[in-house]
Amino acid sequence: MKHSLLPAAVLCAAIAATTGHAQAPATPESLVTAAKRAAGLDYAGTFLRICVAPDNLGAGPGRGAPARGAAPPARNVPDRALWYAKPYKVFDNLYFVGTKVHSSWALTTSDGIILIDTLFDYAIEPEIVDGLKTLGLDPRNIKYVLISHAHGDHDQGAALLQSRYGAKVVMGAPDWESTLQRPASAVGGVPKRDVVVGTEGTKITLGATTLDVIATPGHTPGTLSFIFPVTDGGRRIVVAYAGGTAFNFPRRAENFAIYRDSQNKFAKATSAAGATVLMTNHTEFDRAYDRARLAQLPRAAGEKHPYETDAATVQRYFEMTADCAESQRLSMQ
Ligand SMILES: [Zn+2]
Repeated sequence: MKHSLLPAAVLCAAIAATTGHAQAPATPESLVTAAKRAAGLDYAGTFLRICVAPDNLGAGPGRGAPARGAAPPARNVPDRALWYAKPYKVFDNLYFVGTKVHSSWALTTSDGIILIDTLFDYAIEPEIVDGLKTLGLDPRNIKYVLISHAHGDHDQGAALLQSRYGAKVVMGAPDWESTLQRPASAVGGVPKRDVVVGTEGTKITLGATTLDVIATPGHTPGTLSFIFPVTDGGRRIVVAYAGGTAFNFPRRAENFAIYRDSQNKFAKATSAAGATVLMTNHTEFDRAYDRARLAQLPRAAGEKHPYETDAATVQRYFEMTADCAESQRLSMQ
């Protein structure tokens, strides 16, 4: 049974690489080094953002992290030229209707549309509603609206899509709690409680498509991440959609531990599912805007889809995020 030794050795090496426990105990510095290696060129920007200069380095709640229940900032519409993006068909059944900065995706099924994340309020009509129409899709067919986490750049469209089209809004339980505390005058309005996802996660099935919803608390207490299949010219590809990336939560050791554990949990689930595409909800983390446009170009025979990598590259993202979180946690002790 010689072959049985190999997986154990590979596993040990993988654990050592992830935790930095190979020779010496992990230190904040060794974990940053491991994270940098894991990031490679694929995730260099994300590595800088969370490992080198995290948002919550100052004391107390980080910038851009309103206290739970706090009213979101007033409506502030930036110059359209800075954010407006045309809509793009990216896979056979997945359409980019986001801005240059934030992602929103329409996953089409045999029984309607699952919309993933909803942008800031100012972008809902031009990007999501008009974008779907431009692509030949009918926004009235949106059956589910999945909110990766309850921050304004991803959730301000939820109430409109719910009230206008009857779409069911899906959110993590703690993020529903903070959302429902918002005043009715909040930018984008306040959605009514629909599908509440607890720590055990759930599955959303629409038509012939099933999407796995995994609770990955950390970025917010109710952050959700998703695993779903797309097809590229009929070929099945599995997408890992990471629902919250930046460290903008209160800077406490237990928060970094929660974030780290969620990254490891989602890594396991995406590995088991064979994910070869890594998506996030900010285009800076997964180059969604560039890749959506690259996907419009003709490809040579056998050339991969611009979003597709491989299972190891997807896993390196989670190695990096977990190592960065663990590095921050250790540095506080
Ligand atoms: Zn956020």
